Formats: sequence, structure tokens, C-alpha cells
Amino acid sequence: MDTEYNPVIHARLPRRIIRLEQLAYNLWWSWNRNARDLFKRMDRTLWTTTRHNPVKMLIETSSENLAALAKDPAFLRQYDAVMMEMDRDLGNGHHWFAQTYPELESEKIAYLSAEFGVHTSMPIYSGGLGILSGDHNKEASDLGLPFIGVGFLYEQGYFSQRLDPSGWQESIYTDLRQEEVALLPVLCKDGTCIRVNVTVGDREVALQVWEVLVGRARLYLMDANVEENAPWDRELTARLYGGDREMRLQQEILLGIGGVKIIRMLDLKPAVWHLNEGHSAFMVLERLKEYVAQGMPWNEAIEHIRAGTVFTTHTPVPAGHDTFTFTQVERYFHSYWPQLGISRDEFMALGSYDNGYGVNFNMTALAMRMSGRINGVSALHGEVSRRMWRTLWPEKAENAIPIGHVTNGVHLASWTGEAMHRIYRQYISPDWLSRQDEPMLWERIEDVPDQVLWDAHVYLKNKLFSAMRERARQSRMQQQASADHLLASGILLDPDALVIGFARRFATYKRAGLIFRDLERLKALIHHRYRPVQFVFAGKAHPADDPGKRLLQELHQWARSAEMGGRIAFVEDYDMHIARYLVQGVDVWMNNPRKPMEASGTSGMKASFNGIPNLSILDGWWAEAYNGRNGWAIQSDLPDGAPEWEQDKADAEALYRVLEDEVVPLYYQRNNDNVPQGWVAMMKDAIRTVGPMFSTRRMIKEYTQQYYVPSIREIIELEGDGEN
Ligand SMILES: *Cc1c(COP(=O)(O)O)cnc(C)c1O
Repeated sequence: MDTEYNPVIHARLPRRIIRLEQLAYNLWWSWNRNARDLFKRMDRTLWTTTRHNPVKMLIETSSENLAALAKDPAFLRQYDAVMMEMDRDLGNGHHWFAQTYPELESEKIAYLSAEFGVHTSMPIYSGGLGILSGDHNKEASDLGLPFIGVGFLYEQGYFSQRLDPSGWQESIYTDLRQEEVALLPVLCKDGTCIRVNVTVGDREVALQVWEVLVGRARLYLMDANVEENAPWDRELTARLYGGDREMRLQQEILLGIGGVKIIRMLDLKPAVWHLNEGHSAFMVLERLKEYVAQGMPWNEAIEHIRAGTVFTTHTPVPAGHDTFTFTQVERYFHSYWPQLGISRDEFMALGSYDNGYGVNFNMTALAMRMSGRINGVSALHGEVSRRMWRTLWPEKAENAIPIGHVTNGVHLASWTGEAMHRIYRQYISPDWLSRQDEPMLWERIEDVPDQVLWDAHVYLKNKLFSAMRERARQSRMQQQASADHLLASGILLDPDALVIGFARRFATYKRAGLIFRDLERLKALIHHRYRPVQFVFAGKAHPADDPGKRLLQELHQWARSAEMGGRIAFVEDYDMHIARYLVQGVDVWMNNPRKPMEASGTSGMKASFNGIPNLSILDGWWAEAYNGRNGWAIQSDLPDGAPEWEQDKADAEALYRVLEDEVVPLYYQRNNDNVPQGWVAMMKDAIRTVGPMFSTRRMIKEYTQQYYVPSIREIIELEGDGEN
């Protein structure tokens, strides 16, 4: 098989290793350690400088190198093994879904999301929601689900973060070079790029479609930057969360309505349509329109839509749910509702909702009214969502509101550090990845000698330190960063001392500044003569979020200050790449959101599975995972619903207390070999409890069993063939 994906690469590659092109163009490589290793081996320098982007590597590596590799027996042996593994993994029939539901193998599941964090080279995600979509896709591939993702190709992605000398966040947008990432244009039979037209108000917007291969799964990305569009329409897919409300509404029309059109154009017939957050909720309208055009009565059409729609809500923060004014909606949909055969008022009623700030057209309410299966992303978030949305079901008691939960998980193959991988293969099982959700398997973590686990952790910690220093060096050279700016990037951190990591979006409810509430107490911790504590922060504030940026600036000022003595660092431009280093290389993962604002949280799962205990408020996933031995809880005795300032005060107090009394002493209590045995016991318990339960393996199986399969069966019942 030597399909041509990229003519430049195709022409460069010697025949013997021609399939490197195919491997580079399927992001499957990114979670297969042998494949990653193959690219690393191909050109170690480029592996680093391209930030792990094989497509770019294959363009840039020298022809001499390629010719030499094609004759290097050791490389070829590894190449052949990886190709065999890829063929097996991408082949049919033997995956969990096909084995468990052989009769449903031909059904399809479409998954719409505004962001997908699949790989750093494709910056089409901003944070947790996107990373979750990416992990969802990868796991769907691993389990063999017939899965199609639909989203946007943002030319300029989210943004790169740089802090100016005063610590103020600057957003830098760079154009994606499509030919340097694993993007394939979807072509018509005559070889031209496919076009899908979507009516946005009174305009027609043309979309080009790109395909991304994510293992067995397919991701289709829409792109409005095509010649036939007016300049302002070409900008519609330029940036993730970049515009005003008007732009946002137009983007959501593209996502929901364009999403259905793309799937039709590709002649795919999904049984289930999964809305990942309300951004894509207009999708239900377009499908309703199709049913109505077939002559189906309204109520029956609604029944079909509900049977085939799954909706996942992601935020307990009211402002996190998109709303538009009725006037705005009217402007874009006035010619749409006649096609549904309903009046203006009936149309508006589909999304009408009073969120406490007034009645608006609410995307979450639309999604909830039109979905037969709805879930939150942790047990606690399910509960909060039932309370929050209960007015949509006025006849039901709160505990009977039809919103369930599937707790989020992380894709273990993507987030596990290589040093930990080696230990799991040796002591847990060589095929631990395929058995990762068997809790009994992880009892074997006790067999790992303390010294071995500790050494692996120290190795990963040193890798983080090297990465931070290299970033500091780069910013010194490229931006002439000042000496105190460099100091703030972590160059004075001591690898032998405790490091606490805190990395996430700078949303105010996440309270990145909590540890700074009592400066004397903080200084006592970080300047302790024998048992110092250090902090590494990272994260972006939304470009329009000035309070978030101010908080970040304040934090950066502390990091630069002489008072803190270089023990507080801020790593700029948090993304998936730097996230891997952080969740594998700090000693403790700290999370202190204002409860119950963190719907789930996932970075603590990534850390825990790398043996990095979580120190967190009992919110989201941690309320389910914490057992007293696998990490720490930040817990005050304030009742729920106390005013914010009181909560912040009590939580800060609890945070200092647990750091002083528990975290720090345990870390510095060493045996004769300088191994912190009590600490290692906690690392082991984190791995044992989090691995099998908080992985996307467990998560996708739950979605399949509780949502996708019942939905497919219902559709088959209604329509005969399950295609809708
Ligand atoms: C995992 C991850 C997130 C999600 O973090 P939360 O714990 O949900 O706040 C955000 N950004 C990046 C880059 C990540 O890798």
C-alpha cells in the first residue's frame, strides 16, 4: 500500500520506507510508543525542534538521512514491526466494539465539537473540552467504535501566549501551514476540493473540508477560508473563541448545520449524533428539517431526533452556556423556521430559557429539549446539572430529571510518561494497555520496588526541568527576555526539592491565586531551610478575560520578585506539549477550584496515573476518586453555598494546613537510600486507583453501553435500518 498523502514527502521517501508517509498522516502514531520511537530514531533533533511533528520532519530531514535509514537494518526492523502493529490496530473485526456488538458494527456515531485536542501540531483546542474530545476520538478508535468527529480547522488556532515585560498576556496568532500537519483535503471525484454550502443569515458560506486520521476514527474539519467567500466570511473559522457574540452565532450555525451537511456530503449515515457541549446544538434543527422535508409529522420527527441524539453538558458555570438574543436568532433563522413548518414563536420556544439573567435563546436548553440522552461529566456535576436545569422538566422531581453522568477520563496511552510505561510493562503486564480497565491488574503495582518507581519519577522530573530551561534559553535568544523574566520561567528551581504543579486555564473560578492569600505563610513554606516548597504555574487566560489576565500578571510579578527567590515559576504558552511534561514531571498536582464549578477536571487524572498525587478540592472527579491514601483533599468545614469570600478564605486555610502538616513532611521523610517511602506508597495508590477508573477506556465503554447502544437500538426500532 503506498497511498500518496503529500506529494513532497512521497517523492522524497525511498521505496523501502515509503509507509512512513502513511504513518505520519495517521495520528495513531502519537499514542503508539513504538511509532513515536521510530520517528525519534529517524531524526532526534528534528523530533525536538518540530515539537514531535512527523509530517514536518519528513519534509525537513535530509535526503542522505532518509537514504541511510532505508539501508539501516536496525531501523528497518523497527519500521516493519511498527507497520505490522499499525495494520493490526487499524484492521477490522477484533476490537471490543465488534466483539461485543457484532450486529451493530455497520452503525455510525457522529460526534460534533467546537474543539479537538488531538495533537499539539493541530492547535484547534483551548483547554479541557478540546483535550477531552481528542481523547474521546482516540479511545473510540482503540475500542473499534464506528466513530466520526466533526469540528473546525481554525487557521490561527487558539493563540500562543507570551508575557510582556510587565507580565501582561499577549496573544500571538500564527497561520497554520496546512501542508506541514497531518491534514488531508477531502476531494471530489474530479480531484477538486469538496465544497459544502451553508446559509448564514442572508449569505451563503462555502466550506472546504479536511480529514484527519485518528487511528480508525475519522475527524472532519470545516474551513471557511476559501476564495469564493467574502473576506469577512473567510474569517469565520480563523480563530477558536475569537470573535464577538455575532461571530459566535455564525460559527455555531456552521458547526451544527454545516456539520450535518458535511456528513451528508460524505454519504455517512450515523445512527447516533453526539453533541459535545451546546455549541453544536443547531445540528438538531438541520436534521429536523430533513425529516420534515420527507413529510414526517412534527411530533414524530422530534421523537426520531431525540432517539438518535446524545448531549453532554460540561459546565456548572451559568455564563459558560451560550445564549443569544431572540433578535440575533431571528436575523439568522427567519427563513429557516418556515422550512421546519413552524411559526416564529414555536421556533424560539425550542431554545427559550431563563438563566436568571433574563430569557434568551439558550443553546444548552435547545440541546436538552432535543436529546433523548443527556449527561454531565462527573457524579457531582450530574447532580448540579439536574438542579440547574430542572425548570426544563417542571413536572418532574429533581432526582427524576433525565440527566445522568459519565465521569470523564483520560487516554492513558497518550498521557503516560515513557519511564512509567516501562515499569507498567515490566511489573503490571506487557499488555497492560489492552487490559487497563481491570482493577485487579493494578494491584500488582505493589510489586514495583520503591526505588524503581522513585527513580522513574525523578527521571521524568529532570526531563521537565530540562524542558523549562530550554524554553527559557529560547525566549532569551528570541525575545531577549530579561534576567528576572528568565528567573520566573523556572531556571532557579531545585530538582531535589518538592515541586507543586498548577496548570489550567486562568478562569477565575479555578482560583490560581489562592496560595497567595497569606504571603507570610507562603514564604514560610517556600523558604523553609530544610524542606522548601516550589511551585510551577502554567495556563492561558481567555484573550477577552481581563480579570483573568490581571490575575496572571500578579502571579507573574510574584514569580519575578526577589522575595520569592526563584521558587515560583510560570511556564508560558501552556499547551498539550508542555502539559505532558508537567503532568509527568512535578511532584504534586494541585487543583483548587471554587466548588462545585469544576465539572470534572482531567489534568489531575493524567498526573495521578504518572504517580503524581493529586492535592485538590473535593470537586468534580476528585470527589469520586479520593480515598484518603491516593492524594490529599483540600477540605474546610464550611457548609455548601457559603459566600465566595468566605469559601476562599476557608479553602486557603485548608490548603496551607494540608501542605504544612501532610504534604511537605511526607515528601521529605526519606529512608537510607533517600527514597521517600511513605510518598511512594501514595504514588502507588494513585496509580492503582486512578488507572482503571479514570481512563477514557472506562469512559467510552460507559458511553457505549449506557448511551450509544441504547440509542442505536431505539433508532433501529423506529427506522428499521438505524440510519438517520
Ligand atoms: C488536560 C488539559 C487540560 C484540562 O485541564 P483541567 O484539569 O480540566 O483544568 C487543559 N489544557 C491542557 C493543555 C491539557 O492537557
